[in-house]
Amino acid sequence: MPDLKSLIREVPDFPKPGINFYDITTLLKNPAGWRQVIDELKAQYASTPIDLVVGIEARGFFFAPAIAYALGAGFVPVRKPGKLPAATESVEYALEYGTDRLEVHKDAITPGARVLVLDDVLATGGTASAVVSLVERLGGVVAGVGFVIELDFLNGRSKLGSHEIFSLLHY
Ligand code: AMP
Repeated sequence: MPDLKSLIREVPDFPKPGINFYDITTLLKNPAGWRQVIDELKAQYASTPIDLVVGIEARGFFFAPAIAYALGAGFVPVRKPGKLPAATESVEYALEYGTDRLEVHKDAITPGARVLVLDDVLATGGTASAVVSLVERLGGVVAGVGFVIELDFLNGRSKLGSHEIFSLLHY
């Protein structure tokens, strides 16, 4: 089995000085590595009842649909503003400078649906906690919050309350 960390490219000072960027495109293109990521995430949630996997634009879209397929669940995209055509619910969250907004279709999550929220990287936790609140506002039950990579030193999981958090790789 490939060592997944060896397949992730670290790019210093991207997108700005001081940020060490974890580039997962080098993992995605590796057939054995890509298979292993999906298989390991699938195994993690195999015994958790999950109706929907919510993926966060953009890099969450690489993983969430594959996991949804593997688990026999549906996939729901959470998108940047103005992309979804029907009625949306939105959430604003703080960035280092200013704010950003994410949207989901109002009818995407049936009240009581068990939802897995998935993204590529857990950094400060602002993005994932915003999406968790969006899912809960629509009546979804957050069954788990999953990541391929967690940056432990940023302690993003402290923003996710008592939710079940799983990350495949830790830095
Ligand atoms: P945050 O809201 O701080 O947890 O940031 C999470 C989002 O930013 C994820 O969707 C990641 O795609 C991206 N991100 C943040 N930091 C990094 C990093 N060092 N390398 C790659 N992606 C990152």
